[in-house]
Amino acid sequence: MEILLPKKDYLSATRFAKAINCGLLGYHLSNEKLNIPDKVFERGKILHDMIDSYFQLGQDAFNIPKHMLEGMPDRKEVIPNREYTKLATYNNRTLKCIGTPDLTTSDKVYEFKSGSHSEWHIWQLAFYMWLMEKPYGKLMYFDHPELSFELKEGREKYIVNEEVIIKCWVNILLNTPSRSYLCSSCPIKKTCPEWKGKASEEMLDLVEMNSKKKELEEMKDHYMNNFLNPINEQLSEIKKKEAELRIKIAKENPTPNNYDIAGATISISKRKTIELPEDFVPPSYEQMPDIYKQPELDKKKATERFGIKVEKPTITIR
Ligand code: SF4
Repeated sequence: MEILLPKKDYLSATRFAKAINCGLLGYHLSNEKLNIPDKVFERGKILHDMIDSYFQLGQDAFNIPKHMLEGMPDRKEVIPNREYTKLATYNNRTLKCIGTPDLTTSDKVYEFKSGSHSEWHIWQLAFYMWLMEKPYGKLMYFDHPELSFELKEGREKYIVNEEVIIKCWVNILLNTPSRSYLCSSCPIKKTCPEWKGKASEEMLDLVEMNSKKKELEEMKDHYMNNFLNPINEQLSEIKKKEAELRIKIAKENPTPNNYDIAGATISISKRKTIELPEDFVPPSYEQMPDIYKQPELDKKKATERFGIKVEKPTITIR
């Protein structure tokens, strides 16, 4: 059997974490330029850059979620980031392993993730712990404080050592496919012998669409929660304050006029409108059902029936 060497003849944390589940996927990723979809990569990069700026450049923690700040080490404990290299040797094979963890202290490796949890994140953390010889690891999620996970060296199932790494590499070289939770987002599932001919193209497309949909929904939730919702809250607060100011100014300046103030023009004019009288007592539903949109009074219909003409000061600002 001819064994084709992949373009990347070393193992990184991400490829190891995926290849430990499926050698064929590991082989594919070892020939790819980038291992993760662009959008996920972009978003993760923004979040990681924020943390780097905080720790390496001493910048403010603006936009870093509170649970992340609380779970991260003190600035003084952080070791400057760099790429680490280590050789794994087993059964007469030697392989170079490399990786740059997100954050390190004297005894702990930290890995930060955007999106939701996947088991390969734990394998990735375990790989870093082996690479850097740290007894503890911590996984933290930007959008999910409840998913924080601590790993201790030698924990059952997530053990990484030279034997495990070399066996994983051999599976990559042999292109050994193995069904797992990674299949749904696997970029080669349509050609994979595990699925080719055993599922229709449409079914595989549906799995792919579903996986992409979940990814986009997570991203949307992230932007809503971290950026849009806070902006909307601020906007509502400002609109409320603005309305209060207009009422106050109109009361204090009832005569129409223009005021040039600080580079803007505030115009006060009178607007004729029809409103319900201040002392209006609505008839009951039994008396006048047509002005109700049960169970509430239909204000529009009630105003048409009982409204009076009033002149109100209106304020515009340009
Ligand atoms: S579809 Fe599943 S079994 Fe096939 S290569 Fe991808 S992860 Fe491996």
